[in-house]
Amino acid sequence: MNRAVVVGASLAGLHAAQALRRQGFDGELTLIGDEPHYPYDRPPLSKEFLTGPGDVDKLRLRAAADPDALGVRWLLGRRAVGLNRHEPSGGQVLLDGGEAVDFDGLVVATGARPRRLAPELDGIHTLRSLDDAVGLREAFDAGPARVVVIGFGFIGAEVAASARARGLEVTVLEAAEAPLARVLDAEAGMAVADLHRGHGVDVRLGATLTGFTVDGRAVTGVELGDGTVIEASVVVAGIGVTPNTGWLEGAGLTLDDGLVADETCLAAPGIVVAGDVGRWPNPRFDRLIRVEQWDNAVEMGGYAGRRLLAWGRGEAVEPFAPVPWFWSDQYDRKIQLAGVPGPGVAMAQGTLAEQRFVRVYHRDGVVVGALCWNRPRQAIQARELVGREAPLDEALQVLG
Ligand SMILES: Cc1cc2nc3c(=O)[nH]c(=O)nc-3n(C[C@H](O)[C@H](O)[C@H](O)COP(=O)(O)OP(=O)(O)OC[C@H]3O[C@@H](n4cnc5c(N)ncnc54)[C@H](O)[C@@H]3O)c2cc1C
Repeated sequence: MNRAVVVGASLAGLHAAQALRRQGFDGELTLIGDEPHYPYDRPPLSKEFLTGPGDVDKLRLRAAADPDALGVRWLLGRRAVGLNRHEPSGGQVLLDGGEAVDFDGLVVATGARPRRLAPELDGIHTLRSLDDAVGLREAFDAGPARVVVIGFGFIGAEVAASARARGLEVTVLEAAEAPLARVLDAEAGMAVADLHRGHGVDVRLGATLTGFTVDGRAVTGVELGDGTVIEASVVVAGIGVTPNTGWLEGAGLTLDDGLVADETCLAAPGIVVAGDVGRWPNPRFDRLIRVEQWDNAVEMGGYAGRRLLAWGRGEAVEPFAPVPWFWSDQYDRKIQLAGVPGPGVAMAQGTLAEQRFVRVYHRDGVVVGALCWNRPRQAIQARELVGREAPLDEALQVLG
């Protein structure tokens, strides 16, 4: 393998490029990204970037602090629009503007983009990129009378907390009966709702959005299924993401809610996937999973770089089998989830009402996850317990 190309110049792509170099790849390495910026960190965009001084320079990812140090050809502000594959491996990435970049090995790390509400109106925001965050920050700076957040996932919850920290009135609308239904159990989700209510957020669960009130092209409010209109000039849609796989269509890869790969993140000979765009059978689970978490993007990026080199050298590798791990900062709470929720639940420490607890998830007495609120030490221990599938009794003792 002489030419490696990474598409997606962000967290996963950068760690893949770094791993390739660290493992001794000395061929041509090209990093292609459609954003004009060097790789930056997204988690602060919904947190301190909205509430603090909004310092863009502080967001740059450490691994990209000196862009020349990696020995990478940066193609920023360039979008991959297609992929030509050669037999038995290698090919070309097609860029907007007509250029083609040849590769022997390819890392796909194009992440995901937010789902959008229709119609697209002035004042309706999504939050994924730095440019999105700059726009939302400016909207907050204008001091709107109310911010409406649609969707009570982690992004919606963090934006709501940041808007409250800025002294803004906030309503959060969620169609489900509990927040974060996809990621937590319903009781824990309700604890998140209580946390926000305690900070003055107008939380409406089971709420259906039926439309918007407008003034020309600008949103002035949202209309609910029960006929209520909530006036707001700033609306933030946090309704999930779609993996960026459009540019891979027609290339003979398996695209199904992400680029599907084997348990070593190999999607085809010489093509690996990393980060939010990848779906693979993590051996810890009995299904394909796609993970939208910072830690996974770092680990999977590093793994993908090593995997690609191993492919080039004809070497075998272990499957990629991490324990998922996620954090979210809301108000003065650090919420951390190691592993995944399971059918069984036990409290190792504290109560949901106290909003400081360790909640253990298990399946048939085997620990599969733990939710820790303001318990960072236990979150690290929990990850280790989940990793070795510890019995529930031991977990309750260690985390208690
Ligand atoms: C506001 C926000 C807050 C978050 N907070 C947390 C948190 O608290 N905890 C946590 O664990 N996770 C958090 N996350 C999730 C975490 O940031 C993501 O999991 C991580 O960024 C995924 O990295 P990635 O490199 O896979 O994808 P991305 O970061 O999405 O990067 C993909 C890159 O590829 C580019 N791209 C897409 N298509 C193309 C194309 N065709 N050609 C060229 N380039 C392309 C994109 O523009 C982007 O630059 C947060 C995410 C957001 C948006």
